[in-house]
Formats: sequence, C-alpha cells, structure tokens
Amino acid sequence: MNIQEKEIAEIVRKVLEGMGGASAAPADQGVVIDGKTYLGVFNDMNDAIEAAYQAQKVLRDMSYEQREKMISCIRRLIMEEAPIMAKLGVEETGMGRVEHKILKHRYVAMKTPGTEDLHTEAISGDKGLTLHEMAPYGVIGAITPSTNPSETVLCNSIGMIAAGNTVVFNPHPGAVKTSLYAVDLVNRAAKESGAPLNLAVSVAKPTLATSDIMVKHPYIKMLCCTGGPGVVKMLLSSGKKAIGAGAGNPPVIVDDTADIPKAGKDIIDGCTFDNNLPCIAEKEVFALQSIADELIYYMQQNGAYLINRDQMLQLEKVVLKDGKNGEKVINKAWVGKDAKLILKQIGIDVGDEIRCVICEAQEQDHFVQIELMMPILAIVRVPDVDTAIDMAVRAEHGNRHTAHMHSKNIENLTKFAKAVETTIFVKNAPSYAGIGVGGEGHCTFTIAGPTGEGLTSARSFTRRRRCVMVDSLHIV
Ligand code: NAD
Repeated sequence: MNIQEKEIAEIVRKVLEGMGGASAAPADQGVVIDGKTYLGVFNDMNDAIEAAYQAQKVLRDMSYEQREKMISCIRRLIMEEAPIMAKLGVEETGMGRVEHKILKHRYVAMKTPGTEDLHTEAISGDKGLTLHEMAPYGVIGAITPSTNPSETVLCNSIGMIAAGNTVVFNPHPGAVKTSLYAVDLVNRAAKESGAPLNLAVSVAKPTLATSDIMVKHPYIKMLCCTGGPGVVKMLLSSGKKAIGAGAGNPPVIVDDTADIPKAGKDIIDGCTFDNNLPCIAEKEVFALQSIADELIYYMQQNGAYLINRDQMLQLEKVVLKDGKNGEKVINKAWVGKDAKLILKQIGIDVGDEIRCVICEAQEQDHFVQIELMMPILAIVRVPDVDTAIDMAVRAEHGNRHTAHMHSKNIENLTKFAKAVETTIFVKNAPSYAGIGVGGEGHCTFTIAGPTGEGLTSARSFTRRRRCVMVDSLHIV
C-alpha cells in the first residue's frame, strides 16, 4: 500500500467510525463528528432549511462568474477526493466497486453542466423585445439514493447551484456518511472560492421524519427525488413542483445483424459497471435464437459465468424474498454485490475474473421482470425481432427509463426505440454511454423519466420568466 492509499484508508476509517454523536461546530456551521467538522450539516432539518434559505438570498445576487468559480472548485475537489468517496461508498453501503465509483465521480466532475447550460431566449418584432430567462426556484429539497450516493449529491449540487438555487438533501440513511462527505465537499469548495456556506446542506441523521419536514416546509419551492418507485410517488403527490427520477429495468435486444463479439463484451461491461447499481445498466437480454449461442459464448469470454436453470432457481431463493403481498422482491442484502460472492451462495467457487452471472430464462422469470441491481443477467431466446420488442417493452414495465439495442439494422433500431419510449436509448455500446461515459452528451445521476426533464442538468432546476419591453430595444 503506498502513502496515498494509506491516507485514503485512514480518512475512510475515521468517517465510518464517526457519526455516533454529532454536535454543533463552534461557529454554528456544520456539525462535528468524531473530530471532523462537516460543513453544511445540521442536527435539525428546520435549521438546515433556514440556512439554505439565507444562503440562497446571497447566491441569487452572485454573478455567473462567481458561481462558476465555485463550481470549478467543486470539480477540482471531486477529482482529488474521488478515491476517498468511492471507497467510503463501498464500505458504508456494502455495494458496488471502488474503481467504478472513482470513474463515476470523475465523470460527474468533468461532464455535469454548469452555468453554460442556462440560455436566454429572445423574441423581437414590431412590438419590441421579449426575453425568457431561466430563473432559480429558490431552495430545492432533494432525496438521494444509496446506489450512487455522493455522485448524486455532487451532480445535483453542481446543477442546482449553477441555476441559482440552494439545496437541502435528505440522503438515504444507508449511505449517510458518504452523502454528508459530499455535502461537506461542496461547502469546502464554497469557502475556498469566497462563496457563502450552506448552498448545499443536510442533516446528521436523515429519516422519513426529516424528509417529511423538508417536503412540507414553505421555504422548499421544488423537490427532486432520485430513487425507487415508492419515494418518487410520495414526492409527486406533495402538491409542489417535483422532479421524479425513478426506477428502471433496462432491456437489451440483440438481433442477427449485430457485431456479436462486441455486443457480448459491451453488455457485460455495462451490466457489471459498479456491480449493476446504475439504474441505466443492462438488466435482461432478448437475443434472437440464431445468434444466442454465439452471444453467450462471447459473454463467457468477457467474464460471464453461465448457470443452468436449476442453479437459477436456487439463486432466486438467495437474492429474492417475499414482498408484502406475496410477490417476489429483491433481497437488498444482495444488491450491488460481486458476482463471485453471489455464486458462492449456490456452491460455485470462481475466480476474480468472473464479474457477471448469466442464465437462460423465460420471459416471465423473476430475473427478467424484477430490477435486480446485481451482476445477474437473464437471457431470453426469441424467434424474431418483433417478439423481442414486445417482450422488452413488457419487461421495461412502462418506466420509460432506459433501453439498449445491438443491431446494424436501422429499421429494427428505430422500431424498438419508438415502441419502448425510454428517456435513454443506447445503440451498440455499453449502457454507460447513455450518461456520457464513452458517448456524447452530459453526465447526470438523476434521470427524470416520469416528470419528463430527462437527463437533468442546471436548466432542469429553473423556472422560465418573461420580461417584455414594448416598442423598443429591437434594432431591425
Ligand atoms: P430507495 O427508493 O430505497 O430510496 C431512495 C431514497 O428515498 C432514500 O433517500 C430513501 O431513504 C428515501 N425514501 C424511501 N422511501 C421514502 C418515503 N416513503 N419517504 C421519504 N423518503 C423515502 O432507492 P435506493 O435503493 O437507494 O435506489 C435504488 C432505486 O432508485 C432503484 O429503483 C433505481 O432504479 C432508482 N434510481 C433511479 C435513478 C434515476 O436517475 N432515475 C438513479 C438512481 C437510482
């Protein structure tokens, strides 16, 4: 272990040991946890909201140049501290892979749009000049998941602050330490760049009760939720303007015109990225019968381990459990775990080169229909592309989130894209190309299908305001 790794390990250890007793920091800015001050973190949700409210009054008078200076500082700190947050995230939640989480943080730093995302529209004519400007909402209340905890806090912070908002986070209780580390990072960047503190705030112990206070507080003018169906539904029924980034179950179709060796590798690369935690990751495959054997062969060449149907049924008993109404749901203990560990539960020992479990399945099998968020991939053989499209649309469950296809047939690609209506449609690449990793376009970890903002960025967190000047200012 070199010095840098030792330092990272020590910081992670201290953060994970802490959080037992939080106390107010001397200057009433942040809380002290195990000797470390977390700027922007409060013991009481009402105090956090008040601080964000006051900070927004300062932010709205700051120039775009000052906002950008602060955002540059956030980007630099993310680049420097990505290994700490990646390690912290894996150790606290027990999910994902450190090397992939480092990459996710770096893409947040490099490819989350800042103030350049905000555009003013002008209409000029006989009657004068009218402007439509993108204005901040004020204080935003944000709920963040355990699967991309610090990534979401940082990505939301950059976009929301660039747009002139401050943000109150109620992070997932299972990822609180990692999320608060990110809130502190944003505040350290503010301090360093001369911006006010508390542009991003949170609470030391986020709970459903603190979330309730946040959602109902009159200072919170917009809500943004990144998480599963339950919480998105709750926020969308709040009566406030809300952005909902909900669950997905992205299907992949591979037809007989695809580059099969490449498709096999791309699918396994995407499916195993951060152990399948990203909501955009490949969750089930529909492969044309004529190329299915070859596809499975190339998946195996790229770190996939094929189990038979009996083994698949055994594995269902491990990674699924009975839900409230007797339906099968995921056993969260296995979300984001390594394939090697998952296989061990059914008595199969493999080396570290195995990163994905694959199995052949029928359309109605649980591994096809349930969003697993684990490196387990079911493959369904289909006779033709129309059957594949019908099945894939059903497996996506109307989430309109993400879908993938490997094909060189433009008609097939177009037909599936039209039928599935997803926010993201990736052709001939691993899923992460859809969020800017190896594909064009910006990065985000809040993909708002239900409310239509799509891949959120600064402009998603603005309200349009019109300014009208009659009979003047147009120069032609
Ligand atoms: P989750 O739904 O368990 O939790 C998300 C957040 O909501 C957490 O902060 C949790 O504490 C909170 N929460 C849950 N129920 C709540 C309630 N009734 N009231 C208030 N807060 C509540 O999600 P998770 O397991 O952390 O994340 C995985 C899910 O999120 C998957 O379904 C995944 O697809 C989805 N997700 C979507 C996106 C996207 O951009 N669309 C991104 C990441 C994750």
